[in-house]
Amino acid sequence: MTPQPVAVLRRGDAGPAVAAVCERLVLSGDLPDGFRSDPGGTLQDRAGMRFDAEVDRAVRAFQQRRGLVVDGIVGRSTYAVLDGARWSLGDRVLRYVPEHFIEGDDVVHLQERLLQLGFQLGKVDGILGPETEGAVRAFQSAVGLHSDGTVGPETMRSFAGIERSVRGGSANALREREHLRRSGYSLAGRTIVLDPGHGGADRGAVAGNGVDEAGLCLAIARLVEGRLSAHGVSVVFTRTARTDGGSEEDRAAFANSCEADLMLSLHSDHTASSSGHGIATSFYGHADHAGWSVIGERFSDLVQRELVARTGLTDLRIHARTWTLLRRTRMPAVRIDVGYLSHPEDAALLAQPQTLDGIAEGIVVALQRLYLGEADTGHTGVLRLGDLLAHLERLRADAVD
Ligand SMILES: [Zn+2]
Repeated sequence: MTPQPVAVLRRGDAGPAVAAVCERLVLSGDLPDGFRSDPGGTLQDRAGMRFDAEVDRAVRAFQQRRGLVVDGIVGRSTYAVLDGARWSLGDRVLRYVPEHFIEGDDVVHLQERLLQLGFQLGKVDGILGPETEGAVRAFQSAVGLHSDGTVGPETMRSFAGIERSVRGGSANALREREHLRRSGYSLAGRTIVLDPGHGGADRGAVAGNGVDEAGLCLAIARLVEGRLSAHGVSVVFTRTARTDGGSEEDRAAFANSCEADLMLSLHSDHTASSSGHGIATSFYGHADHAGWSVIGERFSDLVQRELVARTGLTDLRIHARTWTLLRRTRMPAVRIDVGYLSHPEDAALLAQPQTLDGIAEGIVVALQRLYLGEADTGHTGVLRLGDLLAHLERLRADAVD
């Protein structure tokens, strides 16, 4: 039911683990039906199954569609999403398992339905954690079911009944905005987590002129910290100059433990060809799902415009992504990739103190504008809570009869 732990697989590998990946790529439609199978549909030669150019293309197509890093490598996060993609809601019983959270597309649909109905569970991340279980229990007691937190046939039937009467709207979007509205339109008193990428022994990308990503990101974060502290903001760092901030999961968990209002992750990019250049900003969002961070998108839009205007770096725009750090954080999280260290002109710009000052200034201005609560540009529907309440009333009346 849950993904098997797998080694990192890439082009050139072979064996049963590659066969397991291929089976899932057939299910996801990225490899053709009957791919290296005998007429019965079983893969031929599992032990000798090769991760070749065709499999590599299929992995990349899947990663592209699902908003993952497109590198053709099947590591933990790609495998988890790939493995989870074969489940539709109702295919299996869903329950909270403390040591090993169930993940999958069916969990995504469960979370979307709960959110549409107004039950709070944090982000739509496809992971059945304690918050989702709490929302399932709340739903069950609202519709008069035994509230055991397990999504089996009975709970599914209740969903089917309700879904017809309540439609549309993104509760996640409404909830984030409501939180922002209630927390007041001011920077003072907020907690912002700054996450300079890499660190410790990992220097990240290194430019020909000696600028390294870990040092660059920390320098920008410190400039931002200085400005934010002056505005009464509590700034927390995921790492220092010496320490390593850990994996993306660790960094997200740390931000969650700080109960931060926003997490800002800083990186710079690099390509082998040295042709890539420019600045891009990413927030949590998936085209297929309701779990779209509106605040993340809003902040990305604001900060991207400020930074392009202040640095002269090429505008590579803002992007909805499902990267681990963005997915696992409970607060809006945004990642900025400031320039390409593999590009000589970007690297030269990033070696200049005034560029870093401009970036820090732009980030702070964007934060101020975010919390000033300007008229939002929301593109969400309206959650018709009245419809839900009326429906619940009918269910209760039926239960009494
Ligand atoms: Zn990086």
